[in-house]
Amino acid sequence: MSRSAHPAGPRHADVLTEGHYSAPPADLNALDPKVWAHTVGRDADGAVTVGGLPVTRLAEEYGTPAYILDESDFRERARAWRTAFGADADVFYAGKAFLSRAVVRWLHEEGLNLDVCSGGELATALSAGMPAERIAFHGNNKSPEEIERAVAAGVGRIVLDSFQEIVRVAHTAQALGKRQRVQIRITVGVEAHTHEFIATAHEDQKFGIPLAGGQAAEAVRRALQLDGIELIGIHSHIGSQIFDMSGFEVAAHRVVGLLKDIRDEHGVELPEIDLGGGLGIAYTSDDDPREPHEIAKALTEIVTRECESARLRTPRISVEPGRAIVGPTAFTLYEVGTVKPLDGLRTYVSVDGGMSDNIRTALYDAEYSVALVSRTSDAEPMLARVVGKHCESGDIVVKDAFLPGDLAPGDLIAVPATGAYCRSMASNYNHVLRPPVVAVRDGEARVIVRRETEEDLLRLDVG
Ligand SMILES: *Cc1c(COP(=O)(O)O)cnc(C)c1O
Repeated sequence: MSRSAHPAGPRHADVLTEGHYSAPPADLNALDPKVWAHTVGRDADGAVTVGGLPVTRLAEEYGTPAYILDESDFRERARAWRTAFGADADVFYAGKAFLSRAVVRWLHEEGLNLDVCSGGELATALSAGMPAERIAFHGNNKSPEEIERAVAAGVGRIVLDSFQEIVRVAHTAQALGKRQRVQIRITVGVEAHTHEFIATAHEDQKFGIPLAGGQAAEAVRRALQLDGIELIGIHSHIGSQIFDMSGFEVAAHRVVGLLKDIRDEHGVELPEIDLGGGLGIAYTSDDDPREPHEIAKALTEIVTRECESARLRTPRISVEPGRAIVGPTAFTLYEVGTVKPLDGLRTYVSVDGGMSDNIRTALYDAEYSVALVSRTSDAEPMLARVVGKHCESGDIVVKDAFLPGDLAPGDLIAVPATGAYCRSMASNYNHVLRPPVVAVRDGEARVIVRRETEEDLLRLDVG
């Protein structure tokens, strides 16, 4: 559910009328392995540890707020995707979920490819040594400079998103004396969210070229005529935080239908099909994501079956998980600043970050979990709302959560599953300094993205 109204407005009424919180968990000190990174546990003193390090020590050393990322968990998840899809498919990590040079190196080492969608992401990928042929360039409005850089660098594919772009990329490549491999992104009329999808003829959104009305077929016709580009496949991305495979089933059916039409009209069988990303993760204990091997099996079967019935050779499949790889590997560590009980309503717990380090709650009504991590507690659960320090009443990190009733200023709390779309969407609202990303592994911690400083802010403000 997205919302466009100003959050400080009518939503205040929610506090009184909503009242459908799930019951408090049986044990507030428990850490559900579904939502926490693999190496998270508690030490003998009750402090949460990750990668063998207590969060109390991490907070002392690196300050709060901070994103703490479990490197071995990241590598395991990346490897699980790679292994699940095997040698006949490609896994592109969606860099927009979270990108840094360390992440690029991990991906390279684990055999994954990388999606970028801006000059900045491309620069990060190249500067960390990702081979250009393993990079795919996305976006609905790539600038001429971005196209030129991508083609000149030799990226493996550019995903074309409009009729204008087909021509732009072809001309740029020709001017550089190259032939650029491309896919065309189409919209198949499947919009998938979590446990449901909507299949229609048309899709009302900015990405891709509609299959409806013969537009995608026309795009293919034009792409096949241009010398500067080599059309290698069709791309479709149907949504985000998806748990149910049936949306992919409809999407694959429609994409394969287009591949069949292309063969019938042009006598070419395109060798690749990209089914995008969007696979869901557990933000709370209520979410039940599928394992990469189940997803790989389901997607491969769907495409193979569709191609058999269309009598097409099965194309090489690629997928683009972002959230499903990095999301669960990190949590945000905050220090509690104030605890404000509102009689009969709930307790507002203010932390030292907020919507600047996690915009997803304000932007999408995203749900998160939260736990006291600097110690355990036997106190009764209290209904809490974790809020930030920004000048905005919609500055909510966790809307409904149970925390121990003895929570006090100075306690550390952590919000799990913040590896994706948190640091990458972080802002400087209120001139707050963006938190660091600290990677932990085997008892060692290192900063992979440092905390922003006031000098960083003032350097941009040239007065
Ligand atoms: C955002 C995006 C992804 C990744 O989505 P996740 O939900 O992070 O898996 C993959 N492909 C495309 C084209 C995207 O826009």
